[in-house]
Amino acid sequence: MEYRRLVEIYDRLDATSSTLKKTDILADAFSEAGDLLPELIQLARGRLFASWESDELGVSSSLTAQAIANATGVNNDQIESWWRETGDLGDAAANAIENRAQTTLVSDTLEVRTVYETLRGLTEYEGTGSQDRRINDIANLLADAEPNEARYIVRTIVGAMRLGVGEGTIRDAIATAFLDGSDEAIQTVERAYEVTNDFRTVGETAHDQGRNGLKELDIELFRPVKAMLAQKAENVADALNGTEQPLAEYKYDGMRTKIHINGDEIRVFTRRLENVTAQFPDIVAAAQEEITAESAIIEAEVVAYDPETDSPIPFQEFSKRIKRKNDINEMAAEYPATVHVFDLLYHDGEPLINRPLSQRIECLEEIIDHDEDKGTIQRAENHQPASVEEAESFYADALKAGQEGLIVKNMNALYQPGSRVGYMLKVKPMMEPLDLVVVQAKWSEGRKSDWLGRLRLACWDAEHEELREVGRMFSGLTDAELREITAKLEPLIQSVDGRTAKIRPEIVIEVEYEEIQESTTYDSGYALRFPRFGGFRDDLGPEDADQFERVERLYEEQ
Ligand code: ATP
Repeated sequence: MEYRRLVEIYDRLDATSSTLKKTDILADAFSEAGDLLPELIQLARGRLFASWESDELGVSSSLTAQAIANATGVNNDQIESWWRETGDLGDAAANAIENRAQTTLVSDTLEVRTVYETLRGLTEYEGTGSQDRRINDIANLLADAEPNEARYIVRTIVGAMRLGVGEGTIRDAIATAFLDGSDEAIQTVERAYEVTNDFRTVGETAHDQGRNGLKELDIELFRPVKAMLAQKAENVADALNGTEQPLAEYKYDGMRTKIHINGDEIRVFTRRLENVTAQFPDIVAAAQEEITAESAIIEAEVVAYDPETDSPIPFQEFSKRIKRKNDINEMAAEYPATVHVFDLLYHDGEPLINRPLSQRIECLEEIIDHDEDKGTIQRAENHQPASVEEAESFYADALKAGQEGLIVKNMNALYQPGSRVGYMLKVKPMMEPLDLVVVQAKWSEGRKSDWLGRLRLACWDAEHEELREVGRMFSGLTDAELREITAKLEPLIQSVDGRTAKIRPEIVIEVEYEEIQESTTYDSGYALRFPRFGGFRDDLGPEDADQFERVERLYEEQ
């Protein structure tokens, strides 16, 4: 197929804002595509790669502008000026071809496949001279291009097609081209895309094998699977009410990860389906040593703990490991990964996403090598609560351990990649945080006995110019935070009674919590439920703390 023909399709897509018309235009193009179908499906959205493949062409807009200049002999300033006029480097490329100073003697007709393969090939150059080679390849393509062809080639390179063709349009076009376009056909294509994440595979299967072929598509090793997403619950009771056969798990604040294992071959993918295997040699080694299955896709939340204090390191810190391409072993030593596994989507040759969670977990627990005492791979802390009280106490444990809250899952539910279907409900302190003053603290117990914790907190009553207590925070503090709080509070101790210290009210902290209750324990008449440390507010003094009036208002509103 000539690229000119694809450009006509692009122009027709551009000329209509109707999604239905766009669907029809693409459905026609797909039915006629023959063995170019996979390429056409990608190029219809101006994409060269599937969503989970690296799409870094290694070509910036200014390098592309340079290639336009090389291909046409038009000078860089002129190209820049056209570019600035419309903000579209594609337009600048079309103008440059029209006004080119040099004409190629024998100009080849551009084929879709040539454009597709040349552009994909740009990612393969490495090392010195690779920029020049990329510029050269693009210039060669442009030298053979008509103005409108150049426009779309450049838009594809810089990732700015703006044709209003989304995933839904591609899905509907495949369902129309190869099935009957009915709702049921669309659903069949949708499900096939959920499990494969790749419209090329879906399109080819629909073309070659129709409905039945699509229905047989399933998740595969090393082809990344989208994560099932959680819905919000108001509180623990609400989460239990909304769940058929509830299993509560700690909600860790880390990197959501899928680990694909096939014998010695292991790959680690993030929630955004990036392949981060190279950055996490510790996860690869742990999967090799601590997972007994021959093949598996395991889902986990990866967290780093401070090796001295055992407290979770904030995700922002840990996420440095994802971006780092150098010093990988140093980073692994500084932020060693703990892999809290919670789901199994594939096991020894068999996809499990259509099995209930209870079965997936049973199998997951069997393939973790429990001889590895406290290994890198650990089953996420979990509990099947018999009552709301039991679940709340588990929730308090999670917060105490410095984790974010709970995820309550339905043990009967299947795995729905990419969907927020209510099979998982998340509970975390989620009222707007309050800034409160620390008025009292207690020395902790046991190992932590040198540290001040259990903070009594107060808001500011502006009318009476006094502080009013709204609760006590005894959980959610990491060792590092306890140490920092102790250092800040000790100089402010006014008096000591047993293990309790009265603190001069100077330190303001941000406090997250689940709800506000009435209470006779505190002189404000209110108490925060499940309060949790959200950080120091060194920029605030006691009079800047949240006012009693706001606490009353939040109580009324909730
Ligand atoms: P979302 O993931 O729902 O779009 P988000 O990225 O803001 O939203 P949260 O709302 O904090 O994340 O909560 C959901 C996330 O919690 C999951 O995506 C997952 O990464 C994480 N998580 C932590 N522990 C677990 C667990 N035990 N089971 C499932 N997910 C967990």
